Amino acid sequence: MTINQTSNSSLHSSYRIRPIAAFNDNYIWLIDDGHFACVVDPGDATPVIQAINQDNLKLTHILLTHHHHDHVGGVNTLVKAFGAQVWGPAGEVLPHCDHALVENDQVFLDQPDLTFKVLDIPGHTAGHIAFTGLINEQPVVFCGDTLFAGGCGRIFEGTPAQMFESLNKLAQLSGETRVYCAHEYTLANLKFALAVEPHNAQLMARYEDTQTLRRDRLPTVPSTIAIERATNPFLRVQEPTVYQSAQHHQAHAEHQPVETFTILRNWKNNF
Ligand SMILES: [Zn+2]
Repeated sequence: MTINQTSNSSLHSSYRIRPIAAFNDNYIWLIDDGHFACVVDPGDATPVIQAINQDNLKLTHILLTHHHHDHVGGVNTLVKAFGAQVWGPAGEVLPHCDHALVENDQVFLDQPDLTFKVLDIPGHTAGHIAFTGLINEQPVVFCGDTLFAGGCGRIFEGTPAQMFESLNKLAQLSGETRVYCAHEYTLANLKFALAVEPHNAQLMARYEDTQTLRRDRLPTVPSTIAIERATNPFLRVQEPTVYQSAQHHQAHAEHQPVETFTILRNWKNNF
């Protein structure tokens, strides 16, 4: 029997998505098609320039999720060096922005040929956005400091209710969506998750896998929305086990998910 292995995948550009480590634990995501490149949240220009030059790429676009310095610190240098176009949240003060974005805006890049849709996800900062799209036909989300592998960002400018709503918005993306967050916080997040849900078998397995990856100094991201729904306590506040654990940590009268979320967030802050 002859199997026809002809596929049309060779007709599509194939993109590479890789993390550039910056500072202590930041990841700057670099997406390229072999010629042109785009970076997400370049807090530091130096490692980006190194990666770009090493592979003879041209940096054409910069995507920004929020205004914190460890996400935008390299923007001006990269714009000057490469003339890259900057796309960022309309609601925040940024060092440079060519395209100010709000909820449901479409980001059409030419080279590399990529399209993203913008989600407003306030809470960590007041104007924080995420970029969702398909890369190599795989759903992806670049969510900055809002959803982390096994955890979530601190609430600096928004309210717990806003952060809770933003995380729910991300949790509703399809399960196979790859989650590209901006920090390597997974091990500490999962330690906390185990304090909340010590009997979650999938969480225990994830913790073991994460320990192995970190022992080898490998990134633990991207994760997927399905993995987060199964193991991230901040996406699981409606689970009886998570509610009971929050109740045990700090007794609360109302059985409102946002209240459970707030207790978890405060608990994690002091964990
Ligand atoms: Zn931040």
